[in-house]
Amino acid sequence: MEMIRKLSALLNLGLAISMLALPAEANICDGNEAFTLLLHGGLLDYEEEVEPRHRALFRQLLESGRERLAKGGSALDVVVESIAAMEDSGILNAGKGSIVNSAGFTETDASLMDGRNGRSGAVAAMQRLKNPILASRLVMERTKHVLFAGATGEQTLADLGAELVEDPASYFQEYVPPPKGEPSKTEHGTVGAVALDRCGNLAAGTSTGGWPHKMPGRVGDTPIIGASTYADQRYALSTTGVGESFIKRAASRDIAMRAEYLNTPLKRATDYVVKELIGKQDGAGGAIIAIGKDGEIVVSSNSYGVLYGWVTQSGDIVLGTREP
Ligand code: ASP
Repeated sequence: MEMIRKLSALLNLGLAISMLALPAEANICDGNEAFTLLLHGGLLDYEEEVEPRHRALFRQLLESGRERLAKGGSALDVVVESIAAMEDSGILNAGKGSIVNSAGFTETDASLMDGRNGRSGAVAAMQRLKNPILASRLVMERTKHVLFAGATGEQTLADLGAELVEDPASYFQEYVPPPKGEPSKTEHGTVGAVALDRCGNLAAGTSTGGWPHKMPGRVGDTPIIGASTYADQRYALSTTGVGESFIKRAASRDIAMRAEYLNTPLKRATDYVVKELIGKQDGAGGAIIAIGKDGEIVVSSNSYGVLYGWVTQSGDIVLGTREP
């Protein structure tokens, strides 16, 4: 039995390595001129401007995203690359910069959705994944499932080629909680990206270390497709905020369906869910970034704001914290 398990792990590893060795998606989109990349770096706890290190990171990601999309790169690739870079930056609450739970260790969540066909992948409560968004892509592309969780899920994904960190205590920035009263090193939250490529395809992804002081094993909205990440052929969305409320509201899919069924502008549907339902009715802080196939760009927050940045085919980069 053990032999069979090892053989199948080796086989899976071979498949995963051959996949990782492939260049990013081969399809080149040159059907239209229009493209959009919109990123977020989490809900703000107080009113502030974009600080220099986040400004520098977002600029760099939007510049490289602009180049990739202008050359016909796919929305899915650009979403994954942008989020992986934010995970590696260590200055946001995702990947390396993930905060710790109430027991003092890191558990990460992430998800990814391809608007072309609804294919999705997600990971939850992972303690050793280096890049939860890359693991989400493995789930999407190499398994028949959507969501893997916990230690056994992590092992399955490691067998498929997902990179694990050797020593979580030293890799994750905030493995040791800051002393009482001292600020955390990761000031901003969750990261997300939504993109529209020149083929007219949309994709969305989100990644986080979760909500401060969460209990061990708690999973938020970030890995739940339709609560946080959602993309279809018209809209792509990613959330940040108190995940419990986004899960109960199936928030991101609710927004997309309101916009579609009620034939209402994306901004209006997003504001209603973020401000009226999540903000006023649930009393929960939250923000959503969303884009539409026709070029709509929406940032909606019921709190102090959200760190965001976008670029389109016009080439201009816009960065901000308050709603545009
Ligand atoms: N939504 C995330 C969660 O509940 C946290 C965040 O966005 O800051 O885990």
